[in-house]
Amino acid sequence: MSAEPLAPSPVSRRGGPAAPPGRPPRSGRARLVPVDAVGPPARRAPEPPTVSFALPATTTVPAAEGLRPAACASGPEGRAADTVRTTWVALEPREDEVARWFAALLFSIDPPLRALFPASVDGPVRRLVRATVLAMSSVGRADELDALVAAQVAEHRGLGLTAAAYESIGVALVAAVRRFATDPRGPGDVVWDDVVEQAWVQAFSLAAAPMEDAARRAEGDEPATVDATLVAHRRLSWDLAVVTVEPHAPVAYRAGQYVSVEIPQRPRMWRRLSPATAPRADGLLEFHVRGVEGGWVSRAVVAHAQRGDRWRIGSAQGRLTVDPASGRDLLMVAGGTGAAPLLALCEDMAGWAHRPVTTVFLGGRTVADLHCLDRFAELAREGDHLRVVGVCEDDPLDPEVAPGTLPDAVVRTGDWSGHDVLLSGSPGMIRATVSALLVDGTPLDRIRYDPFAD
Ligand SMILES: Cc1cc2nc3c(=O)[nH]c(=O)nc-3n(C[C@H](O)[C@H](O)[C@H](O)COP(=O)(O)OP(=O)(O)OC[C@H]3O[C@@H](n4cnc5c(N)ncnc54)[C@H](O)[C@@H]3O)c2cc1C
Repeated sequence: MSAEPLAPSPVSRRGGPAAPPGRPPRSGRARLVPVDAVGPPARRAPEPPTVSFALPATTTVPAAEGLRPAACASGPEGRAADTVRTTWVALEPREDEVARWFAALLFSIDPPLRALFPASVDGPVRRLVRATVLAMSSVGRADELDALVAAQVAEHRGLGLTAAAYESIGVALVAAVRRFATDPRGPGDVVWDDVVEQAWVQAFSLAAAPMEDAARRAEGDEPATVDATLVAHRRLSWDLAVVTVEPHAPVAYRAGQYVSVEIPQRPRMWRRLSPATAPRADGLLEFHVRGVEGGWVSRAVVAHAQRGDRWRIGSAQGRLTVDPASGRDLLMVAGGTGAAPLLALCEDMAGWAHRPVTTVFLGGRTVADLHCLDRFAELAREGDHLRVVGVCEDDPLDPEVAPGTLPDAVVRTGDWSGHDVLLSGSPGMIRATVSALLVDGTPLDRIRYDPFAD
């Protein structure tokens, strides 16, 4: 770890002599100096909405998408990470308020950053807060932190955040957390004293240093985003579309990865989509997009995207890979549009000399949801290494598909304990399938997943 923890300078009260106005000094490293020197936002943050965005409880899926189940690292870094995690779990019920306060502080410290976020700032800011806290709670666990840093820097570059932004992010985050941790209205079980504040500062410095380094290195590399023209839009149902875009420059990605995408109908609202195609000579990318209820971007893609639209594609990330050297057979399980990255992987493997024997389970509410079944079946006809099973909960009498839920269908169909496993789809489906497979004897370290959730 190249990072050097920076101790917080003595906290100065707003209006006190030590408080520098506006943004803190720049040093080339995130310096969390005056967490209190930045006054509260001009206007009081609005009351929290009744909707809860608490991270899902992931008692059986370690580190899938939350902070709770991470293993503890030892040493001062590990202790700082533990402190961050403990504070954050207690503050989780007020996550939205923390995020809004953070946003107000961030944009008052560093006004140009506001232009990088969409008009409705809540979602992206909440994501930034969560991702930053997740990275902070991972310091001391180098592999985990490295993976988070790579993913976050890629996403931040897509947004337009540069290395210089981390300092402001740290100052605003610690100040926002402090504001709510010390709020007499609660939650009552949060401890906030100098030791805790120091732990937050240290954890941020340790998490931000590699992000800054990576961001700075990347700034000299290829552009953060590639423009692409939408060349085909097929609407398969009221809420599902298959979209093909032609990038103006090569998009570097591996089959199974996802990319960040911005569409002209929803500027600055970056979302992640998984190409359903392996990288190909003509460079075209195909996306399968499900419009979620109330969804800003997915609904616009399904209902309003059209030929000629100019999309922006950010860099690729993701953990869905096949290890050709493992020697084990492969189980793939996908719910809905989660089939896209697995289709790309199967397409990619079709060109391999030695392909693992692969069983794919595709789940949907109805048979109509299994729009990829034919594509998998086509690949299956090209060799004897691939078997595809459709699973439908709401069409239990259809003879072509297995009835029930994906996890049930998977575990009752075979013994997967000797397989490598790739899962793709909603967090709920992934959690349930991981649990079922663990009970059935599949070791956790053979299971990979990228939940379709922020
Ligand atoms: C790694 C990864 C890969 C992904 N790949 C794909 C893909 O290939 N195809 C695809 O269609 N989507 C994919 N997604 C989901 C996609 O990024 C968006 O989250 C989704 O399209 C919703 O965006 P939105 O702007 O329409 O919804 P928002 O406006 O962000 O949210 C509106 C409402 O919908 C809920 N919501 C958000 N996402 C989902 C979801 N996935 N399912 C159900 N409810 C949701 C929110 O909680 C909120 O209540 C992927 C997500 C991740 C993290």
